Amino acid sequence: MLKKINHIGVAVASIEEATPYYRDTLGMEFEGTEVVAEQKVKVAFFVVGESRIELLEPTAPDSPVARFLEKNGPGVHHLAYEVTDLEQRLVALKAQGVRLIDEVPRTGAHGARIAFLHPKASGGILTELCEPGEH
Ligand code: ZN
Repeated sequence: MLKKINHIGVAVASIEEATPYYRDTLGMEFEGTEVVAEQKVKVAFFVVGESRIELLEPTAPDSPVARFLEKNGPGVHHLAYEVTDLEQRLVALKAQGVRLIDEVPRTGAHGARIAFLHPKASGGILTELCEPGEH
């Protein structure tokens, strides 16, 4: 089942340049950065209540986030809902005819297991389902 908004992903050209706004201006707790090599992004997490803002900076020109920035400029990249039963969720969504980017979970930041639904299946917003790993 869907538990909450785990995080909102925001594409940025530079985490270093974007950090002062979230950390200092808004006063959010900075949790650190991590490179997710498989997706060619560096991510930074900022805590807000029980959710987070995830900044995404491309680490290569062919990163999906680099392509997003070229097309749309910086801004909201995806919404991530936390689920407790990722595999069953994906099977159920597929059975409902929902277009999935990941039919099988992959590993995201913090060892979470994640899967993306196609933005065409979700009103133009790239949607991530995530099941947190050991934190
Ligand atoms: Zn995410």
